[in-house]
Amino acid sequence: MMKNLACWLLLIYSGLLSAAETYPPAEVTMQLRQLGANSYYVMGAPGIATDNAGFISNAGFVITPEGVVVIDGLGTPSLAWKLRELIRSLTDKPVIKVLVTHYHADHIYGLQVYQDEGAEIIAPAGVYAYLDAPNALSRLEERRVSLYPWVNEQTRLVKPDRVIEQDSELELGGVRLQLIYLGAAHSDGDMAVFVEPDGVMFTGDIIFEGRLPFVGDADSKRWLATLEAMSQRQLKGLVPGHGPAARNPALALSKTRDYLALLRQSMGAAVAEMTEFAEAYDTVDWSAFSQLPAFTETNRRNAYQVYLAMEREAMAAE
Ligand SMILES: [Zn+2]
Repeated sequence: MMKNLACWLLLIYSGLLSAAETYPPAEVTMQLRQLGANSYYVMGAPGIATDNAGFISNAGFVITPEGVVVIDGLGTPSLAWKLRELIRSLTDKPVIKVLVTHYHADHIYGLQVYQDEGAEIIAPAGVYAYLDAPNALSRLEERRVSLYPWVNEQTRLVKPDRVIEQDSELELGGVRLQLIYLGAAHSDGDMAVFVEPDGVMFTGDIIFEGRLPFVGDADSKRWLATLEAMSQRQLKGLVPGHGPAARNPALALSKTRDYLALLRQSMGAAVAEMTEFAEAYDTVDWSAFSQLPAFTETNRRNAYQVYLAMEREAMAAE
């Protein structure tokens, strides 16, 4: 009996060891922050994708009586492993589900850590627009170089086990989570997660605290509508995909909303008046946002993207 037990312990120990050895340690500071009785998050550093060993995005988790639900997979398996260790310092419950707010490289390359543990991976519809595009593989190849050794030949793209196409709910041991399906907002498919007992919303990348939102190829119309709807809820906490949890959730929502509204209103007017983009851009009063980090790199591109989108919307409406 004792011998059996010793064997088991040895097996478990060597299992943990080999998993840990698979992931080159990411020498970054990852600090647990508690948001409510059940909810926690860790915050990536500001910077571009390859800064800080790839730790530039946030991840959260919710401890329930049935197991742990992780929100977002971080940018490398090493980072996800580090978070897994932090979770282990609070509970020995397994990670049973991972909710991916959206499929972008900085939020998904750590997913394999949880998949290997047996967790169910849940993502919003639109995920296959990302996974099936050639860009998904070429981006991974690029990160195997730019984020080596943390992203390497063993790093793989993890497909979801379940795809959410509408608002859904999870109830785990009395802890209720709302999965809010946002459609194509910041990416091809976005989802926010609301932890009911804590009043905490994990928004993914549709909210940016403290820096200018990157519009990318987002559907700004739907994004704006989503923020309008979200601002109707009573929030105690709001964790964006990047940067600190909002001290004032309503204000964080309204800042992103106001920026998108300005983009759409100003570029929409330019399209309606058939003003050239460059001329229109120079006449907009950006002063409410021009002090935000990333403004100079991002704003013109955001505006141009929205200008083109408003042109398409205008043509579709004709
Ligand atoms: Zn991101």
